[in-house]
Amino acid sequence: MNWNIIHGYVIGAAIPAALFFFFRAVYMRYRLLQACAPVPDPVAEHGTRLKEVLTFFLEQKKLFQDLKPGIMHAFIFWGFCILSLRTITMFGMAFYGFDFHLPGFGPDTFAGEGFAVLKDYTVVIVTVMVLYAMVRRYILKVPRLLNTPSALFVLLMILGLMVTDMIFEAGLRGASSPLAGHTAFLLHCLGILAFLVYIPTGKHMHILTSVFNVYLRPLHRSGRLTKLPLEDESVETYGTPNIENLTWKEALDLYTCTECGRCTEACPAASTNKKLSPRDVINKQKHFLVDDEAARLLSGDKTKEPSKDMVPDVVEAQEAWDCTTCQACEQACPLNISHVQRLNSMRRSEVLMKGKFPAELKRVFKGMQTNGNPWGMGAEKRMDWAKGLEIPLLENKPGAEYLLYLGCNSAFDDRAQKVSRSLAALLKEQGVSFAVLGESETCCGETARRLGEEAVGQALIEANVELFKELKVKKIITPCPHCYNTFKNEYPDFGGNYEVLHHSELIAKLMESGKLKPADNPQGRAVIHDSCYLGRVNSVYQPSRDILAGVPGLEVSEHERSKTKGFCCGAGGGRFWLEEGEPRINHARVKQLLETKPSIIATSCPYCMKMLSDGIKDLGATGVEVRDLSEIVSGPAAAVPK
Ligand code: SF4
Ligand code: SF4
Repeated sequence: MNWNIIHGYVIGAAIPAALFFFFRAVYMRYRLLQACAPVPDPVAEHGTRLKEVLTFFLEQKKLFQDLKPGIMHAFIFWGFCILSLRTITMFGMAFYGFDFHLPGFGPDTFAGEGFAVLKDYTVVIVTVMVLYAMVRRYILKVPRLLNTPSALFVLLMILGLMVTDMIFEAGLRGASSPLAGHTAFLLHCLGILAFLVYIPTGKHMHILTSVFNVYLRPLHRSGRLTKLPLEDESVETYGTPNIENLTWKEALDLYTCTECGRCTEACPAASTNKKLSPRDVINKQKHFLVDDEAARLLSGDKTKEPSKDMVPDVVEAQEAWDCTTCQACEQACPLNISHVQRLNSMRRSEVLMKGKFPAELKRVFKGMQTNGNPWGMGAEKRMDWAKGLEIPLLENKPGAEYLLYLGCNSAFDDRAQKVSRSLAALLKEQGVSFAVLGESETCCGETARRLGEEAVGQALIEANVELFKELKVKKIITPCPHCYNTFKNEYPDFGGNYEVLHHSELIAKLMESGKLKPADNPQGRAVIHDSCYLGRVNSVYQPSRDILAGVPGLEVSEHERSKTKGFCCGAGGGRFWLEEGEPRINHARVKQLLETKPSIIATSCPYCMKMLSDGIKDLGATGVEVRDLSEIVSGPAAAVPK
């Protein structure tokens, strides 16, 4: 039997068939991207993007956040790169015989012999890694992994390719069993072609798209929601009422998701049994786009109605409302897939286009619209927190260096008011030149935008930008990480550009300069709770650590879920204003922090303060209290005098 002729004919026939199905599937998906909405920001800064892609793939840093599977994936990835040379060589062998080799990789060359050894080791390592992946999936049953038929198919396929390569080498090269060798060679080449056809149809599409997905990701967008063009009368849809309202980048995310479940594992909502699982949202949108809506979108007939509404038919409304916008999912995702904007867009279409939102938000939206704060409190109560402190108003002190912007929670909530007093007293004592807006202060717009009420959010922002312009505001200090993020990352879209400091940054600076010396007052054992909007969203982790390290008598501990792995208090994304079923996120967070046996939970956000204090109360925990950093530095704060 002339095996060379058989290889040539079989593989020669299979290659064009495989390429046809591969390119057909890729082209269909490419056209679906074209049918989606444009991205709001131009894809610029190519140098930065290129650098990020290179470090992303060479270092595989995000994968190593979860070390063991990260190592496993990295070896498979690098193995895949090395073995691609081997694959080309094998296809050459199919037509030119087994002596075929790539130029420069001949049998007696250094490159040829070196590669042969490297290839053998790589095959063994990839085999071991695939077996490890199977153990994790089917024996250890790691909860975040989905045991779908496609996951099994891919693992068996990779294993099959490694095994057939080994049999080919041993059987044919070693001449021990030519039949086994030839069969293995044929199966190996056909397996690669079958895999090629499969790639665009399943989760392994990420092999093709991940480079582009990382390259094209929104830069500088961590804490920034896109600005909706509300003034443009030609725009008829807001958010994502239909699948084609996803931007093409959001659709590319769908193709890129590997279903690894890291996002869902990190998600505080999913961890407390809420409806939301970020991975499932991605999966549902992907199948809806590719399986249900492709024919309609590719027909180009704009009069055809979508087969289902995005919410509630594809994604349940509760899933969108469960999100705290904490970004733990995006931090955990090895492929930089966006979830927060995606979920927010669904809230936007629900609120702006259908007027649908949880009943408890009616009062909140009204309060923001009519009184400029979600409580609906009258402006005359804005300065209650400052009673007896003689805090200057900016209109009376136009030369003040900083605007101290409290934010609604710090102005109205009883506990947060104490922090505001403590902070203002500290600033005065330190001689910081600051003033407040007083009764003119309104909400920064964050809550409304996070809750999908973009019209109210934009109105609040525009009014503030106007006011700040009149008062010549250049620098802002705020004790609220949500206001901080909004001023810093969202106001520039509305023409407001300021130097923004969170109070922890200012306090850390004052301490570093030696000006501020915390009292030598043994305080106990503190554990740090990072606010998501200060930490994960804006990477401000160090000031709180520097502050606590500088307080005499204070022992400081960290929970394993801190910094990038921090766990939300449950209040972000406007969830502070929404009902939550059991088990509650704030309870879960307090339980985690109590594992470090603290007497103080140190925080730097009025929302975290409230959620964690409530959690301690609900759980009946004793001997522990929540304190803001400013209180830890300057001693317990006094309540507002009656
Ligand atoms: S932002 Fe936070 S709550 Fe929302 S999906 Fe991601 S991890 Fe879950
Ligand atoms: S979105 Fe990212 S983290 Fe979540 S399953 Fe997909 S690839 Fe994994």
